[in-house]
Amino acid sequence: MQQEVIIVGGGMVGLSLALMLAKANIAVKLLEAIKYPNYDDVNLAPYHSSFDARNSALSRRSVQIYQELGLWHALQAHATPILEVHITEQGSFGKARLKAEQEKVESFGQVIENAWLGRVLLTEVRKQPLIELIDGVQVTSLTQDTDQALIEAIRGEEHLSLQAKLVIAADGRDSFCRKALGIGASEHDYDQVAIVTTVQTSKPHKHVGFERFSHLGPLALLPLPGEYRRSVVWPVKKGTEGEWLGDENDQHFLDALQETYGDRAGKFQKTGKRFSFPLSQVLAEKQAIGRVVLMGNAAHTIHPVAGQGFNLCMRDAYVLVRYLTEQLAQSDDIGQPSMLLAYEQARLTDQQRVIKFCDSVVRGFSNQNPILKFIRNTGLVAFDTIPGIKPLVANYAMGLKV
Ligand SMILES: Cc1cc2nc3c(=O)[nH]c(=O)nc-3n(C[C@H](O)[C@H](O)[C@H](O)COP(=O)(O)OP(=O)(O)OC[C@H]3O[C@@H](n4cnc5c(N)ncnc54)[C@H](O)[C@@H]3O)c2cc1C
Repeated sequence: MQQEVIIVGGGMVGLSLALMLAKANIAVKLLEAIKYPNYDDVNLAPYHSSFDARNSALSRRSVQIYQELGLWHALQAHATPILEVHITEQGSFGKARLKAEQEKVESFGQVIENAWLGRVLLTEVRKQPLIELIDGVQVTSLTQDTDQALIEAIRGEEHLSLQAKLVIAADGRDSFCRKALGIGASEHDYDQVAIVTTVQTSKPHKHVGFERFSHLGPLALLPLPGEYRRSVVWPVKKGTEGEWLGDENDQHFLDALQETYGDRAGKFQKTGKRFSFPLSQVLAEKQAIGRVVLMGNAAHTIHPVAGQGFNLCMRDAYVLVRYLTEQLAQSDDIGQPSMLLAYEQARLTDQQRVIKFCDSVVRGFSNQNPILKFIRNTGLVAFDTIPGIKPLVANYAMGLKV
């Protein structure tokens, strides 16, 4: 018998998870607050909190999951592989390099345009008979008893009352569901915003990703489809960004990039519109309670410094679907609380490792104390020269060793 699961939130995580469930033959209702566009008449303009001007670095594991879903062929039209990673610090001698060839992998992952990822996911969701997509609907109440979870929602003038044995809350960093269930969250404001845009450089990117720690903040420059296009993600102290946003400040921003990067990428010639995202870490105190499980940013929102947030969510979603499938093989209760607790427990090690790693990179590299700077440099040199470290780190970054 098919069980009904409700997912609240159709961002990148909710949509990907719905497709994983459908592949496992589990029927799902997906509720999303935003009214999705019809692609017949809409181009790739930003329109959605997840499918925006950003690009995402997908780890090899995430790519594998999309391959299993049969989506990679469509996704790769606007994705490009990362073959090398260079990590440097402004004003320092240390440099760490990772090469896919040396690690005996095809690539470390792929950079994809979020707008494209969203478009492919949504198109596929709309085709799936096992997914009922209800968009333009705001969930306004979530309660539960021992047998089911109950949702109240509004869509225009319409009032919806829904129930399910399992609710998956993928409703983002400020998750309504998390709050409705009284689940606390620890929050740390990094006092930073990420400046996000696309630039064109005079040197081709040759599929190299750069992470440069600068006094303004860690600047990531990732290759994009098209030899000279690169994605910029630059977390800077709140307030610093003011003089870079707005079309009139294009040159000002290009100059700041040039000064920070030097000539490794050649000349920074053109920039797209800059967008800014406030950065904080938000960690739910519990991820499973009764018949509800938190997923995606609702469970853990982390700093984008190493491009790990969405990749971690994809691994969570994949493991959850495995638990649900195993559960259905033994019982017809897909939302059994003890199974959800077992899922939560199973994911803790990977989650804590990634959360700790991203947080320590941000804190470790933001201190300009000369002694700490020296230690960081020696660390980068050691990383580049001591055998055995690179494969280990590369495997973690690719999401293959969890
Ligand atoms: C600058 C930046 C760069 C990043 N780069 C990377 C990267 O390179 N690689 C990587 O792995 N990760 C990256 N991340 C992280 C990644 O973007 C997030 O992990 C991902 O967007 C989380 O998606 P989500 O679906 O959980 O949340 P969201 O995108 O916030 O989606 C939540 C959805 O829930 C809906 N919703 C909310 N409330 C309700 C309600 N009451 N009723 C119905 N629907 C509701 C919202 O409308 C929304 O569509 C980056 C993050 C930032 C900020």
